[in-house]
Amino acid sequence: MVATETLVVKNMTRKAKKGKRKKQKAGLNKSILDVGFGMLRSTIKYKIEQIGGLFVEVPTPQVKPSQTCPKCGHQHKKTLNIRVHECCVCSYRQDRDIAAAEVMLYWAKGTLPGLGTSPADAEPSSSTSCTKARKQAGSMKQLGALKRQKSVEVFAKNELRDVETHSSGEANCG
Ligand SMILES: [Zn+2]
Repeated sequence: MVATETLVVKNMTRKAKKGKRKKQKAGLNKSILDVGFGMLRSTIKYKIEQIGGLFVEVPTPQVKPSQTCPKCGHQHKKTLNIRVHECCVCSYRQDRDIAAAEVMLYWAKGTLPGLGTSPADAEPSSSTSCTKARKQAGSMKQLGALKRQKSVEVFAKNELRDVETHSSGEANCG
C-alpha cells in the first residue's frame, strides 16, 4: 500500500505571502514544477496497481500530514523551515517528512490517533495551546465529520480487505 497526499500542484506552487520566505518558496516551487509531481504520482499509482497494491490519496486539507503528530494526532502548525516534528503533547520526535509520511500511512490504515480532523478541530487559530490539545487528542474518533468528505476511507477499507488476500509479492525481474 502506498499513501500519498492529494497533490494539487497549483496550490503547492502558490507564492509565499510573507517577504522572508518568498525566496525559499520560490525555489521550492521551481523544484516542484521541475520534478513533474503529477507525473510522478501517476507513475507510482500505476506501478502499485499493477502489482495489486493499494494507492491511497490522503485529503491534505483535512488530515494535514505535516502539521499532525502521527503518535497522538495533535495538530501543531509548522512552517516550512521547521524540519523536525516535535510534539508538545506526547513529545514524539521525528524528522518532519517522516512524521508526515507516518501520518498519511496511519490515516490510510485507519489507525491515526485523533482521526477526527473535523472542521472544529481545524480552527485556524495560530496558537495551539497544549492544554487544549490534550482534550482533542482524547476524542479518538469523529467519523461523522469524515463521512461527508468523500468516501475515500470506505474505499480504502474495502480495498484493504482485498489486498490482504493477495500477498503482494513484488516481482523481482530486473
Ligand atoms: Zn504527539
